[in-house]
Amino acid sequence: MSLLTNIDLINRARQIIPGGVNSPVRAFSAVNSEPLFIDKAFGPYIQDVHGRIYVDYVGSWGPMVNGHAHPTVIAKTKQALTKGLSFGASTSIEIELAEFIQSKMPSLEMIRMVNSGTEATMSAIRLARGFTGRNKILKFNGNYHGHSDALLVKAGSGAMTLGISGSAGVPESMVSDTLTANFNDFAAVEQLFHAAGKDLACVIVEPIAGNMNFVLPKPGFLHQLRKLCDQYNTLLIFDEVMTGFRVHPGGAQSLYNITPDLTTLGKVIGGGLPVGAFGGRREIMQQLAPIGPVYQAGTLSGNPIAMTAGLANLEVLFSDNNFQKMCDNCAALIKTIKKYITKFKLDANTDFAGGMFGISFNNDSDNAKFISFFHSMLANGVYLAPSAYEAGFISNAHDSETLALSSKALELSMAKIAH
Ligand code: PMP
Repeated sequence: MSLLTNIDLINRARQIIPGGVNSPVRAFSAVNSEPLFIDKAFGPYIQDVHGRIYVDYVGSWGPMVNGHAHPTVIAKTKQALTKGLSFGASTSIEIELAEFIQSKMPSLEMIRMVNSGTEATMSAIRLARGFTGRNKILKFNGNYHGHSDALLVKAGSGAMTLGISGSAGVPESMVSDTLTANFNDFAAVEQLFHAAGKDLACVIVEPIAGNMNFVLPKPGFLHQLRKLCDQYNTLLIFDEVMTGFRVHPGGAQSLYNITPDLTTLGKVIGGGLPVGAFGGRREIMQQLAPIGPVYQAGTLSGNPIAMTAGLANLEVLFSDNNFQKMCDNCAALIKTIKKYITKFKLDANTDFAGGMFGISFNNDSDNAKFISFFHSMLANGVYLAPSAYEAGFISNAHDSETLALSSKALELSMAKIAH
């Protein structure tokens, strides 16, 4: 056990790091509480500095499809570490990871590695603008694509949690070309296209929305987007930073059988290290520097340690029926959640796709029910995302023991908010 308590750490952190955190949602402000400081994590569990162990349904916000500190991922990463941390030059492992991704997502005919999901979407937008020669973009309210200026308009999760749409420091001019519509509102999208389709470089969408809790696309919505984009020569970008290698082996694009022009990835493909990627049609990707006019670069892009961890994460995920195990674990969890929603007659919804899920409470003013539920789950050893607007993530390392622990916590916590 660490000698420092959570409170010591919070106080120290707040002196030197704004809000004490390096990413806002970690602050627990959306659940009226203080951040947890984590010591380590293993398999489906995460352990705080007091030695308290929780069943983890955050999974570092998505990457941990195989659970934490998977022995193969760790061993391969350790081996790579001994060869040097970064060269700023080409390595074979970058090709291997790109080829692996392409084998599962054939729409990515070419791929460029970056260091985060934010960088992936930011670069994909620039590329779409460069390729089409158009400036306007369309995003959906409550979809989050990272924190680059043009995309920080009506973004979900962190921005939603803090009750701000957009951000100070983003000049109007940076977002004046960003049009927005409600997710699943096809009529609104059609109207926008009629008015501005010829100026639209791209539509960027989370094919399954995971930053406003968990919202599936309405049947036909994504297909209709594809059709409109074709009609107006607008590029369709699927932001699969969250859904990629999680909702289906080939991402949401395989699940719904739609070919986007560009795809952005992150999370799973880095295995927990900072990796993002974007890719798509060859003729579009060939507009990138050094072979094309759209500039994009990165000192640490394709970093050998990150590529090794990412490839190992994917190789483990696609061996031993592990992808299916992750999906089965999620189905079993949702079944349990549904059982208690029914038992306690809660006005709540739960749904999932692959290894990603959501629980939401209806008519929950100020998220009071969620906050009470969250704290009860935590007190009973289950770590959920500390915000009502985040999706949940499960791994193939979750097992009958974590399901039993979760079931007990769910029963107690749902009973509590039912009264
Ligand atoms: N796109 C989506 C769909 C995301 O969920 C996120 C982060 N949760 C991002 C982009 C940004 O990724 P990052 O935090 O790695 O910059």
